[in-house]
Amino acid sequence: MQKNVKKYDVLIIGAGPAGANAAISYKNLNPNLVIGLVDKSLFPRDKSCGDAIGPGVISALKRFNNEHILEGEPQVVSTTLYGPDNIGIQNYIPQVKNKEDSIVYVIPRIDLDNRILNLAKEAGVDVYEGFSFVDFTSNEDKSINIKIKNDNEDLEFLTKILVGADGANSRIRKKLKYEPNSDWHKAIAIRAYIDSPNYLEIFNERTLMFEINVSADKGYAWAFPSKGNLLNIGIGVPVSIFKKDKLDINKLLDNFVLELEGRGVVVENIRKQKSYLLPFASSRPKRNKDFNVALIGDASSMINPMSGEGIFYGMEAGYLLAKNTYNILDTEAISQGIDRYEKEFTKRFRKHYLSCALARLILQSPFMTKRLLRIASNDQDTIDFVVELLFDEAYLTIKEVVKIAYKFLLPSKLLTSLSKN
Ligand SMILES: Cc1cc2nc3c(=O)[nH]c(=O)nc-3n(C[C@H](O)[C@H](O)[C@H](O)COP(=O)(O)OP(=O)(O)OC[C@H]3O[C@@H](n4cnc5c(N)ncnc54)[C@H](O)[C@@H]3O)c2cc1C
Repeated sequence: MQKNVKKYDVLIIGAGPAGANAAISYKNLNPNLVIGLVDKSLFPRDKSCGDAIGPGVISALKRFNNEHILEGEPQVVSTTLYGPDNIGIQNYIPQVKNKEDSIVYVIPRIDLDNRILNLAKEAGVDVYEGFSFVDFTSNEDKSINIKIKNDNEDLEFLTKILVGADGANSRIRKKLKYEPNSDWHKAIAIRAYIDSPNYLEIFNERTLMFEINVSADKGYAWAFPSKGNLLNIGIGVPVSIFKKDKLDINKLLDNFVLELEGRGVVVENIRKQKSYLLPFASSRPKRNKDFNVALIGDASSMINPMSGEGIFYGMEAGYLLAKNTYNILDTEAISQGIDRYEKEFTKRFRKHYLSCALARLILQSPFMTKRLLRIASNDQDTIDFVVELLFDEAYLTIKEVVKIAYKFLLPSKLLTSLSKN
């Protein structure tokens, strides 16, 4: 016999974009469901991030008419990629194939995540801020008891599904004894905010600037313009390289600041430097079917290994989980529903993730980076494809591989003259 504990249909640990969107999705699919959302932080809370959100996040918000939370935000119009030897290309964000809007915003996570969490609150989700997940136990009927606590209180709940959306250091994932990503399949990155009164002038427009293999060998740096003079800057490298080369993440950031200043960008008031891990989707955990527990977002290693983007994939996972389970919560088929979510997510993104992992390998070589940027600067198809890997769900088909391999083999001059014709 259970103690008198509050009962939930779904209890979600972690109120970042993945967890909050799962909660919003369940409530929109069936407003009668009792959904709980727990986070150890009090919101608004900061999260180390590049703050860039693309067409996928906009679609995820539009699904339940929530895109109004982006109103008034300035849109980014292009990307600028730099490689070694100062090879650079600026490209407008192409019309992506799988989404309605080809729009990119840069919104500090302290604001964005709070706005998404507010949508969950408005939808009627019970939110417990400032409470940490402590432990769970599974009962014979597969329902789950969960303990959470803050400095003053210990609470216990009973739920039909437990969702782990507790980020890159997920305690729920550890409790399930899933292996963490190896050093090869994760990156470490540092983010800082600066004020730059002339960034838009230097680049002529609101552009996302990426720098590959320049301030950090085998890594990439970014400068993303937000509202006013606010610029989000940062740099990331795979953990395997970080450890092997005994790198210092703060030094890498200093190098990048010098690099930006070298391009004429005024850098003022560097603040809020914060580093964090990015578990790449090139290695994802397999589910333990003994428990009605589902992982979403960084807790389930869903970050794009090429771009470092993770907000969209986490939000989409939250929706797909809700879609596959919201109407079977009173049946014994919950576990199959969680499996269907996993399968649908994997089927949709496997080739895309694989292509991005391959692109990451290519971009880890300074030589190949230079070659790719030379090709892309002469060939609109290639640069559009690179930008679609970053912002959409593009993947390499055999035809695509052959086309790109052919371009890699052609001498640059010949490629230029072919592209002009
Ligand atoms: C430096 C950097 C730059 C990045 N840039 C981008 C970018 O520009 N665009 C992009 O799309 N992605 C980017 N990412 C990835 C992105 O930040 C993550 O993929 C995204 O935050 C994942 O969302 P999530 O909801 O899964 O996890 P999170 O956003 O990490 O949320 C997890 C939540 O769980 C809570 N939590 C953790 N442990 C517990 C516990 N024990 N009990 C209760 N609550 C708990 C945390 O407080 C947190 O609120 C970047 C990542 C890094 C590190």
